[in-house]
Amino acid sequence: RPSIVFDNVVFGYEKDRGILHGLSFEVPAGRNYAIVGPSGAGKSTIARLLFRFYDPVSGRILIDGQDIRAVTQASLRKVIGIVPQDSVLFNETIGYNIAYGRDDADAATVEAAARGAALMGLIERLPKGFATEVGERGLKLSGGEKQRVAIARTLVKNPPILLLDEATSALDTRTEQDILATLHRVAENRTTISIAHRLSTIADADRILVMQDGRLAEQGSHADLLRAD
Ligand code: ADP
Ligand code: ADP
Repeated sequence: RPSIVFDNVVFGYEKDRGILHGLSFEVPAGRNYAIVGPSGAGKSTIARLLFRFYDPVSGRILIDGQDIRAVTQASLRKVIGIVPQDSVLFNETIGYNIAYGRDDADAATVEAAARGAALMGLIERLPKGFATEVGERGLKLSGGEKQRVAIARTLVKNPPILLLDEATSALDTRTEQDILATLHRVAENRTTISIAHRLSTIADADRILVMQDGRLAEQGSHADLLRAD
């Protein structure tokens, strides 16, 4: 359960246009922090920097106290599990979709992965033949079912850090609340960052970081932020 630190991070995609202007925050090990803020504030950029799709112009990003510039992208993908807003599934069985990304994805692994997801409560029913070609196919699932499969795909790799980037934003509120309840359980022993724009999404967060124009505008508990208004 690693901690995550952004230490005065400066970053821009293009030379003359800064996106993060000295961003600093810390997510302690095992906690669930939410990052909110208007579209374009730089929230998803945080996710991209954590995976080293880009490196900061200055400042440091530490995971478990280690500067991630010393860590390969492949290693970061093992440590950080991400669930994006629009997960793309293969037109394959649920089991295949869940086990995808594991190096050892033979039939037994696929079955174990699907069972693991069922145990986590992410998949309510195990479709007949889920581990074979004739199983239920990814493309036929509803939006909520797709996100559950995507979450299961991330969780079977058992990442100590969970990065939810608008993971439930495309769903209706009832489906969202359903999935959030499950996520709350599985996030319990992980370090979690939930990027979201709907406040209902982050009701379970230990602390909320509010971003604006590439900076931290304020942070606090739900109660702190309500008091500030
Ligand atoms: P948020 O997730 O808060 O909506 P983003 O981190 O996605 O914001 O984007 C922050 C800013 O960076 C936006 O102004 C966006 O247009 C810009 N941006 C995002 N990706 C790129 C890119 N690949 N190249 C140039 N600008 C980008
Ligand atoms: P997977 O095996 O689950 O596809 P990968 O290890 O290939 O995962 O990639 C890590 C994650 O990074 C992927 O789940 C993918 O959704 C996410 N990702 C890819 N591009 C971006 C991006 N531009 N910003 C944020 N996340 C991204």
